[in-house]
Amino acid sequence: MSFSNLGLSQKVLDAVNTAGYTVPTPIQEQAIPEVLEGRDVLGIAQTGTGKTASFTLPMLTKLETGRARARMPRSLILEPTRELAVQVEQNFSIYGANHNLTVALLIGGVSFDDQFRKLDRGADVLIATPGRLLDHFGRGKLLLTGISILVIDEADRMLDMGFIPDIEKICKLIPPRRQTLFFSATMPPEIQRLTKAFLKSPARIEVASPSSTASTVTQLVQDAPNDFTAKRQLLRDIIKSEDLKNAIVFCNRKRNVDIVSKSLAQHGFNARCLHGDMAQRSRQETLDSFRDGTTKILVASDVAARGLDIPEVSHVINFDVPIHAEDYIHRIGRTGRAGHSGRSITLVSKSDQKAFSSVEKLIDKKLEKLSLTKPETTGVGGEKVAKKPRKRAAAKPRPVRPVDDTTKPHPVRPVDDTPNPRPKKEPVPGPSNVKPRHADIEKDHQKDTAKNGFSGDNVPAFLLQAVPGKRKSSS
Ligand code: AMP
Repeated sequence: MSFSNLGLSQKVLDAVNTAGYTVPTPIQEQAIPEVLEGRDVLGIAQTGTGKTASFTLPMLTKLETGRARARMPRSLILEPTRELAVQVEQNFSIYGANHNLTVALLIGGVSFDDQFRKLDRGADVLIATPGRLLDHFGRGKLLLTGISILVIDEADRMLDMGFIPDIEKICKLIPPRRQTLFFSATMPPEIQRLTKAFLKSPARIEVASPSSTASTVTQLVQDAPNDFTAKRQLLRDIIKSEDLKNAIVFCNRKRNVDIVSKSLAQHGFNARCLHGDMAQRSRQETLDSFRDGTTKILVASDVAARGLDIPEVSHVINFDVPIHAEDYIHRIGRTGRAGHSGRSITLVSKSDQKAFSSVEKLIDKKLEKLSLTKPETTGVGGEKVAKKPRKRAAAKPRPVRPVDDTTKPHPVRPVDDTPNPRPKKEPVPGPSNVKPRHADIEKDHQKDTAKNGFSGDNVPAFLLQAVPGKRKSSS
């Protein structure tokens, strides 16, 4: 089967050719003709299957006739995260290189003004996250009555993120004569209900079972200590001993994402973090730097990293076993893409055992143990590898004032700048050994940022920096 048999326009075929694709993927082969015929589509497919092109290519063909009017977009694509929305926009610029269509991106975390202007000019394709779309609608800047094609992408992630009421609201604002293309990796009951309510006799296309993992990924498991500090040491050892080109390290909690990335950076690794609490600009900047190879190790939360299409990721490391077993499949799907091989390594401590059993049950496979070789003294990620292990400041307890926020400069008194020679260690629980129930993770995080944080020698040095504008350390 070739792309030219699918009914796509010449402009689209030329762009596909330029992109270097010769054979359509199974979802493309099945979905494209249905979309071109005007049918609703229910695509059960994960990212990595080529599903973005399965809706963008026929959309471009269909949108070649007609023109957009001010504030009345002709098509709408809903994405659960800003990064995915940006990624789909990038797909439109590649596949739509021979078109003169206008694409507007409505995502949170960036200014409304540019978005207003784009809407005013008229958008053939609107790509949005649900919250920002409804914001614009509420301000009267947008009419949804001109939409003839609606795409709901990553519906099960929308569900996880609590967007279903927004999706229902949006579906009701768009005329029912539209064509709806609906994609989800899994079909939990909530999602099935949604498809029954909003799809009209859709063509159902399923290309991968929800429990399948790519054969190009070697999946390994490593016993890990419960202790957070020791676990970070293990992570460094793994990174050094693996033949690692680049890696995404997943943590379950945003706070740990922050700490693990800063700790890696502090040990000289080329690492940055990505999580939902970061400003949009810095999220995108981090992602771009990982994509172009400037950053080698991306420490990320599930929400931020879901569905990211970065073709050559050599390793995925699960610093924590994911709470939802399906997330394991999404995580490891970040490697072994586009014909490359990849490795995933999952760190499993005692308290992770239950979650890990669910993962093995879901993928119906016992994972092989990693044989961890002795770390080398030179490695990837740009680390300055210390020959000797760094000495902890055990001999001299560090007087640290509790911090109030992990994102603001930390009001930590510099080490030698204290009148009290023997400060008391504060028995504040650090992040180690804390295994929250999964329902508590988000709540926990909100508390994290409001709460005072760390104690004694668990404190990473990045928290010990002087506050800009305050008195400098005398050390
Ligand atoms: P997606 O599932 O949409 O995230 O796509 C995964 C990756 O596959 C992206 O990097 C696409 O550029 C790539 N891709 C999509 N369609 C094809 C194709 N027919 N042949 C080769 N690569 C493709």
